[in-house]
Amino acid sequence: MFNKLTAMPADPILGLLTKYREDPHSQKVDLGVGVYKDESGHTPILSCVKKAEKFRLDTESTKVYIGPTGSADFNRLMSELAFGTDHPALLANRVRTVSTPGGTGALRVAADFIKRCNPNATLWVSDPTWANHTGLFEAAGINVKTYPYYDYDSKSLKFDEMKAALASISADDVVLLHACCHNPSGMDLTNEQWDEIIAISVNQGFTPLIDMAYQGFGDGVDEDAYGVRNMAAAVETMVLCSSCSKNFGLYRERIGACTIIGKDAARADIAFSVLLYVVRCIYSMPPAHGAAIVETILGSETLKQEWLAELKEMRERINGNRAMLVAKLKEKGVQQNFDFIAEQKGMFSFLGITSTQVAELQEHYSVYMVDSSRISIAGIGNGNVDYLAESIAKVIC
Ligand code: PMP
Repeated sequence: MFNKLTAMPADPILGLLTKYREDPHSQKVDLGVGVYKDESGHTPILSCVKKAEKFRLDTESTKVYIGPTGSADFNRLMSELAFGTDHPALLANRVRTVSTPGGTGALRVAADFIKRCNPNATLWVSDPTWANHTGLFEAAGINVKTYPYYDYDSKSLKFDEMKAALASISADDVVLLHACCHNPSGMDLTNEQWDEIIAISVNQGFTPLIDMAYQGFGDGVDEDAYGVRNMAAAVETMVLCSSCSKNFGLYRERIGACTIIGKDAARADIAFSVLLYVVRCIYSMPPAHGAAIVETILGSETLKQEWLAELKEMRERINGNRAMLVAKLKEKGVQQNFDFIAEQKGMFSFLGITSTQVAELQEHYSVYMVDSSRISIAGIGNGNVDYLAESIAKVIC
């Protein structure tokens, strides 16, 4: 039966990484893969993670099944991190959370859950959005459409068009919003813009699904949750998909959370039973190790403070890299305005150059980025920013 298959296209980012690794150029630069890197280009294990991991290894006494919800402590601490401890939806007992295999697992659980809520629901995603969103939801049989979001010409939000599109979406549908650090554009909603989107969501009655893969990478843990918290306080139903891959540096441990908010406690319980059924039908139970690390950190005041400090260091390095690249491009005589890079947030921005220029950067200067000119900001450092800015200048001037 396999003989009838035709090959799927290879993942463009993984292909880029292979080419980068094979490139012998001594000054090669990788701006492809979206993982945090330190100044030396390494993705470190956070020191709070090492400590929590040691504690768990010393005290863990069983590997027995954890159950489809995962760890109750992890779930509670994650929803408090997202919403804040005194959020009205938490106080009203309307919030239910399951641990999931990464943010991707949370999204897939959300997709199957939505399909059970309304088999005809359309999921609306920003144009552009994280490449995996569309495939993930379509794999669950959900129709995916886009709403206007990023203006490649003006390097800003198409906010009026976005509002107009959302204002025509029905209560049967779901709208996916990025909590912060929009992937791939780095272009976030301001708090005032969130307020307007929240008002439209309430008015239209659709269910917002917020993807929060980078809490703490933009402006801070609480600041980045502005949209999540205010949306959750305003709407009747909501879905939140969180990831611990970036902010805890737990990428390969595969840990995240899927949270649903019901209209009241009784309806949240019913929805939760459906969510648990969905989990059982996909992977039965989530992995426990990453959740154990996160709950140890968030449950200890000392480790939590250490985590917040390490997260701040990662955030400040990324924001610093943004400002540094803009300054270096000016220094190398580039006339084109790249100030938007310093204003955008998170791991990514579009450089805004053509695919021919992207290819030229790769071929002649060994600077690697995806065709769309999305760059991973963490790949920049003091050691390569001069070479990078010079290479960009040569290609675009
Ligand atoms: N959502 C977005 C917007 C992302 O960028 C990512 C990771 N690249 C995810 C979800 C999934 O994260 P995870 O690695 O935890 O599955």
